[in-house]
Amino acid sequence: SIRIENLNKHFGEKHVLKDVNLAINAGETFCIIGPSGTGKSVLLRHIVKLERPDSGEIFIDGHPVFVNRGKDTPSDYRYSMVFQSSALFNSLTVGENVGLWLREKRICKEQRIREIIREKLAMVGLENTEQLKTSELSGGMKKRVAIARSLAMNPDLILYDEPTAELDPVTTDELANTILRLKETTKNTTIIVTHDLNFALYVSDRIAMMHDGGIVDVGTPAEIKASQNPIVRGFIYTTT
Ligand code: ATP
Ligand code: MG
Repeated sequence: SIRIENLNKHFGEKHVLKDVNLAINAGETFCIIGPSGTGKSVLLRHIVKLERPDSGEIFIDGHPVFVNRGKDTPSDYRYSMVFQSSALFNSLTVGENVGLWLREKRICKEQRIREIIREKLAMVGLENTEQLKTSELSGGMKKRVAIARSLAMNPDLILYDEPTAELDPVTTDELANTILRLKETTKNTTIIVTHDLNFALYVSDRIAMMHDGGIVDVGTPAEIKASQNPIVRGFIYTTT
C-alpha cells in the first residue's frame, strides 16, 4: 500500500503540492485526474523518488520513503514508470527493449530472459513481435512495448503518466482493455495520471480528483460520477 501524508512541494515561490493526503491500496488500479498544471505529474514523480518534498512523507507498505533518504524502504519493492513518450530505444528491436532491464541486472539466464520477453509481450497482446524494429511501430504499439518492458521487472507498483495522450480513440480503448486485463493477471498496484475522464472511469477501482495542488475528492468511478463536489462536477461537464 502507498500512503501519502501532508505532502508539500514548492518550486521557487510556487506552491505546487499543497498538503496532499492519499492512501492507495495494494493491488488497486488508481487514477489521478485533474486539469493541466495542477501537480499530477509532480505528485507521481515524488512517488518514484524523482522529487523530494519540502515536507510530508510517503509510506510504502508502512515504510517512510524520504526520512533517512529512503533507507527504510524495503529494497525489494520495485516500481516502474511508463512515460508519456514511451521512452523506448528506437535502435533496438521490440524484444531487446523489453529485455533491457533483465539483461542489465543479469538476474537470470539468457534462455529464461527470452521466455520472459515473450510472456510479457503476450500479456499486452503483442505476440511474435520481438524481432520488429521499434522505430516502425505505431504509437499504441510503442505504448504496449513500454508496458511490457515495465512488466519485465515484475514491479509491485506500475505508474503511467498520461498513457492516452497522443493516442486515437480506438487505440485508447485497446489500451484501456489491456490495462484491465493486466489487472487480472498481475497483482501489482497501478497508478495512472490522466486528464481523460472516460478512460479513468473505465479502468479504475478508485479515482482521485486533483485541483490546484490538492486532492479535492476520492471515490469509486460511480461515486465520482455522482459527486456533488463543484470542481468534480465542472471537470465532468467540461470533459464529456
Ligand atoms: P499536465 O496535465 O499538463 O501534465 P500536471 O497536473 O501534470 O499537468 P505538473 O507537471 O505536475 O502538472 O506541474 C504542476 C506545476 O508545477 C506547474 O505549474 C509546473 O509548471 C510546475 N513545475 C513542475 N515541475 C517543475 C520544475 N521542475 N520546476 C519548476 N516548476 C515545475
Ligand atoms: Mg503532467
